Amino acid sequence: MAAKIIKGTEIRDQILKELKVEVDEIKAKHGVVPGLVTILVGSDPASISYVTAKIKTAQDLGFHEIQDSQSPDLSEKALLALVDKYNKDDSIHGILVQLPLPKHIDDKKVLNAIDPDKDVDGFHPVNVGRLMIGGAEVKFPPCTPAGIQELIVRSGFETSGAEVVVVGRSNIVGKPIANMMLQKGPGANSTVTVVHTRTKDLAAHCKRADILIVAAGVPGLVKPEWIKPGACVIDVGVNRIGEKISEKTGKKIAILSGDVDFDAAKEIAGAITPVPGGVGPMTITMLMKNTLKSLKLHLGIA
Ligand code: NAP
Repeated sequence: MAAKIIKGTEIRDQILKELKVEVDEIKAKHGVVPGLVTILVGSDPASISYVTAKIKTAQDLGFHEIQDSQSPDLSEKALLALVDKYNKDDSIHGILVQLPLPKHIDDKKVLNAIDPDKDVDGFHPVNVGRLMIGGAEVKFPPCTPAGIQELIVRSGFETSGAEVVVVGRSNIVGKPIANMMLQKGPGANSTVTVVHTRTKDLAAHCKRADILIVAAGVPGLVKPEWIKPGACVIDVGVNRIGEKISEKTGKKIAILSGDVDFDAAKEIAGAITPVPGGVGPMTITMLMKNTLKSLKLHLGIA
């Protein structure tokens, strides 16, 4: 039987609706809305497109939103001063510095300068530590892994006791999602294996997975015969494999593919995310959820 397609766009719309209700309730009761600043240094086209999407979502939700665009020659010192200004600004609950930064700026230094209680991306070492401890310690789970967990849970997959195999061990996807799935608590309690380029028998590990999360950045890495029948397959990979002309705009657009052979895998898996339209739409949504949570923590109602 063909797999259920896990539509990230539909789950995103549902979560955004829920967030809007909460934003409106808090505004009516407390007279405040979540504040999000996006700092963009330079004019990298991909960064501009990400930032534009984040701003639009924040505006649609009724956030107080600031787009702080800076010239590419902004000094590291000036950027640190800017971060400090927003750290002290009570109307701002989330600070986002769009990466990559120009080469003359040490991005680690800048990300570490963000107040951990406004670090809605969840990349500050304090938040990485909180995530490792788990439970009520967690303030801002990183956005892509949080989106992956939502997709699994909202698709009705049982995570407790499930064999979860994560392909990839990056700091932004592989390691945090592995850590989140093994925590004690709802949407987790899984038995987790993380595999990478030094793993001896990738196929054997993948074949055991009730939930297979693939974040390698290698198109077609996971073969259909590596998938356990009925498994939940979350394909995080976004790979540009060519270009085509958009029917809507007439402009050149990238042809994207995931890390899993989707057409063959969907005949074996129980559920699978498409690329695009699976994990991708979830990341900005979870950023909005974290910013709202930051406001709720600030108000003492989280
Ligand atoms: P990354 O930092 O390059 O990490 C890739 C990981 O995959 C590494 O741990 C690497 O192992 C492992 N890997 C690569 N090739 C492998 C192979 N042949 N066999 C086994 N393991 C292999 O990538 P990332 O930032 O985690 O991103 C992964 C993918 O997800 C990319 O396609 C990216 O574009 C996509 N992504 C999507 C979203 C989204 O949709 N919102 C967000 C983030 C990332 P080693 O550690 O041994 O090198």
